Amino acid sequence: MEKKWVYLFGELDQALRYVQNEWERVRGLLGGKGANLAEMNRLGLPVPPGFTVTTEACNSYLALGMKFPESMWEQEMAALASVEQKTGKKFGDPKNPLLLSCRSGAKFSMPGMMDTVLNIGLNEETVQGMIEATSDPRFVYDSYRRLIQMFGSVVMGVPDEPFQEVITEFRNKKNVKSDAELTAEDWKSIGERFKDIFRRYNRIDFPTDPYEQLRLATEAVFKSWNGKRAIDYRNAARIPHDLGTAVNIQTMVFGNMGNDSATGVAMTRNATTGEKKIEGDYLINAQGEDVVAGIRITEPVENMSQTMPDTWRQFVGITQELENHNRNMQDVEFTVERGKLWMLQTRDGKRTAQAAVRIAVEMAEEGLISREEAVMRITPEQVDFFLHPQFNPESKKAARTEGRILASGLNVSPGAAVGVVAFDADLAQSWVKKEGKKVIMVRPETKPDDVHGMLAAEGILTSRGGRTSHAALVARQFGKPAVVGVASLEIDMNQRLMTVGSQIINEGDWISIDGTTGEVFLGKLETMVPDITDLWLMKLLTWADGFRRLGVWANADYPHDAKRAREYGANGIGLCRTEHMFFEPERLPFVQKMIITNQPTERREALEALLPFQRDDFLGLFRAMHGLPVIIRLIDPPLHEFLPNYETLMTALTDNKIRLIHARNLKEIDDLLHKIEEDEHVLIRVETLREANPMLGLRGVRLGIMMPELTQMQVRAIFEAACQCIKDGVEVHPEVMIPLTCHVNELIAQREALETVAKEVMAEQGIKVDYKFGTMIEVPRAALTADEIAEYAQFFSFGTNDLTQTTFGISRDDAEKGFLIDYIQRGILQENPFETIDEKGMAKLMKIAVELGRKTRPDLEVGICGEHGGDPKSIAICHKLGLNYVSCSPFRVPIARLSAAQAALRDPKNL
Ligand code: PEP
Ligand code: MG
Repeated sequence: MEKKWVYLFGELDQALRYVQNEWERVRGLLGGKGANLAEMNRLGLPVPPGFTVTTEACNSYLALGMKFPESMWEQEMAALASVEQKTGKKFGDPKNPLLLSCRSGAKFSMPGMMDTVLNIGLNEETVQGMIEATSDPRFVYDSYRRLIQMFGSVVMGVPDEPFQEVITEFRNKKNVKSDAELTAEDWKSIGERFKDIFRRYNRIDFPTDPYEQLRLATEAVFKSWNGKRAIDYRNAARIPHDLGTAVNIQTMVFGNMGNDSATGVAMTRNATTGEKKIEGDYLINAQGEDVVAGIRITEPVENMSQTMPDTWRQFVGITQELENHNRNMQDVEFTVERGKLWMLQTRDGKRTAQAAVRIAVEMAEEGLISREEAVMRITPEQVDFFLHPQFNPESKKAARTEGRILASGLNVSPGAAVGVVAFDADLAQSWVKKEGKKVIMVRPETKPDDVHGMLAAEGILTSRGGRTSHAALVARQFGKPAVVGVASLEIDMNQRLMTVGSQIINEGDWISIDGTTGEVFLGKLETMVPDITDLWLMKLLTWADGFRRLGVWANADYPHDAKRAREYGANGIGLCRTEHMFFEPERLPFVQKMIITNQPTERREALEALLPFQRDDFLGLFRAMHGLPVIIRLIDPPLHEFLPNYETLMTALTDNKIRLIHARNLKEIDDLLHKIEEDEHVLIRVETLREANPMLGLRGVRLGIMMPELTQMQVRAIFEAACQCIKDGVEVHPEVMIPLTCHVNELIAQREALETVAKEVMAEQGIKVDYKFGTMIEVPRAALTADEIAEYAQFFSFGTNDLTQTTFGISRDDAEKGFLIDYIQRGILQENPFETIDEKGMAKLMKIAVELGRKTRPDLEVGICGEHGGDPKSIAICHKLGLNYVSCSPFRVPIARLSAAQAALRDPKNL
């Protein structure tokens, strides 16, 4: 059977049969636009007749070296005949001409491909026929010049400026302000001038044969698939290059045929807030591009209820039907031609994160989708939106209508940023540091030497690069909003300016970038912090909580963090890093004294001074988490981190020794000698504690074993605080966690030393505390011997920051500022293992640890508290591994709640 390259809008069933009834594949074959047009037609909605040439035809055309595949053109002609029959008009017929539009339409909407060509089929003869049919020569000549202009610029690549110049010239000559004031004669003359321009640029005449117009337009769509901008976009957005584009050929309908005609665009719900209310713009007596281009001031679409009430009623009914049918908010285009409503397009509408959440929740409440679907429809990035500064939607809308949207690229790091353009890192840094400016650093791409500028900048914008480019990785790591791969952006480093089309932006000009959507705006937009307590988000997350199996806990060191974590829905504290408390200025001297002294009494005194501080810390945490578990990790970092820097001490000591040589008065000599003696004492201790690889040195449990008084003080503080809480009626569940264990004997030693203290305190207070004693799993050996370790640990918590370092043998700090970025760019590693759990390697160790641990202790509580605990992909892995909870920073708790629910809903075991 002959291959079918062309499907009428009415042949959706045939297309579906060809792709085994899979809607996604039909979208692949007919493109998103073509599939939706055919679907609207099937629903019996008023769609102007037309047909789609498939993506397969496009791919064959390209593979054959720009030749239509066999019989494709004949099928196009047959489809055209069928359209002629339906409309009662004839293509190229001077008396009753059929006019067509031609649009590209790939599976995914894709900037950079061919836009629309309207009014195909007009020429000298059909123009006359149209004038007779419409009695409106002005409209017809205007339509004709639009064809020449669009055909010239879109199909043949003629720049638009010469066309615009001619129109401006006519306006000036006639002394009028708007195109609306130009007459039929003007448009006729303008059309002639356009033909000259066409000839000059292409060295051929404007094709007046309608079939030639159609053929060239079809070819132009095919070719645009391989245009540079389209290829760059696909590379950046990781869209495969072999999908091809479809071509949609459709009967023209005209919204500019008088006051009973109109054209517009609308969303079935508000795309900014999500409110269930049609939102859109329309214009009476206008063509579609007039609405989009902002040439005339549009009216709110609901005004149609006044101007054309019957059509409005029909329109509302249709949009509701489309929404119900597609079970999603729709973005539609329509035209009213002499009172008859035509639907030109429908697709799922783009929306802000806030709107997405509200729409999903309300659709579930309306019964249009299930709660599970609502939860699955929201992405973790959309939840993240609620936690970053964003542009005020009003300010963004105004910027759009004022034409200040400059370009768009890949949204690689969320958040809104406003600043002046700086084209290099040094300038960015100096403007910020010395002049207090806010800066957006703009580069073709970034390199490791640019990091200081990126850190100083509010946001980062690059013209090249994809989701794993250096700029994207660094921006995400430091939480800087970033947009990368803006292909339309040309940066001229010599002239220190950038251009987008004809727009020039100089260094020092203000721009605003939206890392959440990938948009770039000219000038300053207002920012705001969205509200996490958004009613709909809260509801959605509560539904998510009902689906997830993983608990979501938070890493919090201070009561205010714990409070926030709880507000965001945390079920416990999975990690309190106690050493953070030691760095506070009023405590550090005691900590230092305790480390430096080798006198047991002095050390005891220092620890006694620290005890009340620690007790208060824990009291605050327990109170904030009333009724929920709180895991407190005993001191982890090497002690030298609390002492002055060796080199700084050495320099100070040498300086004082030199001063001593020159000192003349006794008091000065005395003071210096005293200082030197003190510094020498400290220096000896610092030198003793100095290690070549401190991260693998005396830290974690090793420290607790070598200096038991310290961890004993911490345990005393925990239990004294817990007893106090119980006395005050606060429910406490402390869990004492030992870091960096690698051998069961370490745990045995620590448990004995620490439980003695715990029991002592409970006896002193006459109170029994419900507590657990457990360990972090941060070293491969601990994972591999988890059965032994579980004998002495009631819980495990994967410290995946360290476990990644020790599994890979890579130091995070060194890697992330150096070779790791190269590794990811070259594809040696697909992802940063410090962000997403390495499934093939480290996750295996985790699996072994869970299995061995639970073999010994079936009720072993297992969680994760490394940064991976807030990463959606890692959360899915934790779900698979059967962990009890993930623990992450308070700000990521909402994301983790959603991701945990999605992991559970995707789990085939739940189906
Ligand atoms: C870890 O290693 O994953 C962890 C949570 O501990 P830290 O980051 O404090 O080393
Ligand atoms: Mg660790």
